[in-house]
Amino acid sequence: MVRTIKKDKTAGEKPKLICAECRISQNHVVLTSMEDCIDESNFESQKSYQIVQCLNCEALCFRSEYDDSESHAYDMETGEDFHWTAVDIFPHRTAGRFKIKDSFLLPPIVRKAYDELVDAMNAGQTILAGLGIRVVLESICVDLKAEGDNLFKKINDLLVKGAITKSDVSVLHKLRSLGNTAAHEAKPSSPEQLDLAMNVLEHLLLGTYLHPRLADTVFKT
Ligand SMILES: [Zn+2]
Repeated sequence: MVRTIKKDKTAGEKPKLICAECRISQNHVVLTSMEDCIDESNFESQKSYQIVQCLNCEALCFRSEYDDSESHAYDMETGEDFHWTAVDIFPHRTAGRFKIKDSFLLPPIVRKAYDELVDAMNAGQTILAGLGIRVVLESICVDLKAEGDNLFKKINDLLVKGAITKSDVSVLHKLRSLGNTAAHEAKPSSPEQLDLAMNVLEHLLLGTYLHPRLADTVFKT
């Protein structure tokens, strides 16, 4: 095995990634980089460690990209060979997954669970995030004093109490089953499932806690 360290092999490249300050996907430029290149008889790999800068707001962050001679597969649908690389961004971030505005106004027990869920989402911890969805649901049930000896019954009780609507109930049961799979089968949820689950959960947090509070402040009588 031969290891070679190279410098600035990717400098000047313009990867697109989510900027933590702009909060959307932006063009970045690699300011400087170090490449760890491994060469073996039938295998080559390269990991590039880069300092990148957002071309819109100039914020800096760290990006790494791994690539090797075996990172390719046959796509059954298109019939073509495709190549992939593994990219990591630090600090971790997910498009649009920033805490909802005024989340500090949530009841402490709900806020703590929600904060940890957002962290798990942004760190790409899909099993823990699936579990976190369930924990936030449980925390809402505790706060609203939902009755029942399991989460299924508690969600139904939220409807009886008028805290949620009928259409909320069926969606919440789907989120509950997402958490079940994470807890009992240690199965990661797909990014699409988690994204939708977060949207639903945040909608619930806004409707249950934040909008009523804001309405009291904005429409003072
Ligand atoms: Zn930016």
